[in-house]
Amino acid sequence: MSRYIGAVCKMCRREGEKLFLKGHRCYTNKCSLERKPYPPGQHGQRRSKISDYGIQLREKQKLKRLYGVQERPMKNLFEKAVRSKGVTGTNLLSALERRLDNVVYRTGFAASRKEARQLVKHGHFRVNGHKANIPSSILKVGDLIELCESSKSSSKLSGSLEANSIREIPAWLDVDKRGFKSTIKDLPRREDITSTVEERLVVELYSK
Ligand code: SF4
Repeated sequence: MSRYIGAVCKMCRREGEKLFLKGHRCYTNKCSLERKPYPPGQHGQRRSKISDYGIQLREKQKLKRLYGVQERPMKNLFEKAVRSKGVTGTNLLSALERRLDNVVYRTGFAASRKEARQLVKHGHFRVNGHKANIPSSILKVGDLIELCESSKSSSKLSGSLEANSIREIPAWLDVDKRGFKSTIKDLPRREDITSTVEERLVVELYSK
């Protein structure tokens, strides 16, 4: 399945909530969802009945769009979540939160997950002292993520932690702003994840 290249704000309007895909703009009154709080398209303002399957599908799409993950990798993460101990839905969310691109975003190195993904691909980060450029890598407790020495001289990158401090740092991350690094100190628990996604519906859909 190809990557969506249309207007990203339409995704928020389709899901009916802010997915914070555009960085700083999402926190201003320029946010499209605030100006047009209804689904995109000619019939966007029409209310139509949605089936149980439709509700599950929308929830899955919301989760994929929120983390910028395609169908195949999401299904793979779900299958791993099923095989892991604990609640499948929480395992799935925990794995998504521990993706390298999401950790870079949560730490505050990037204004959006898309920007975080690009920074990772361009090799700006090290994990446990080694260069890491795969955004989908799943990190584990104890992993240390830091900005490469050469990237610290970039005023944009070094200033990003302050610029993005409007966002709350999750409890499972230990961020050292002066050292441009963060450590995963715990597995993300459900209550640490602010997303409104009902993961139970995603699990039901994938279990069919
Ligand atoms: Fe979504 Fe951000 Fe666009 Fe608002 S500005 S609709 S939160 S991507």
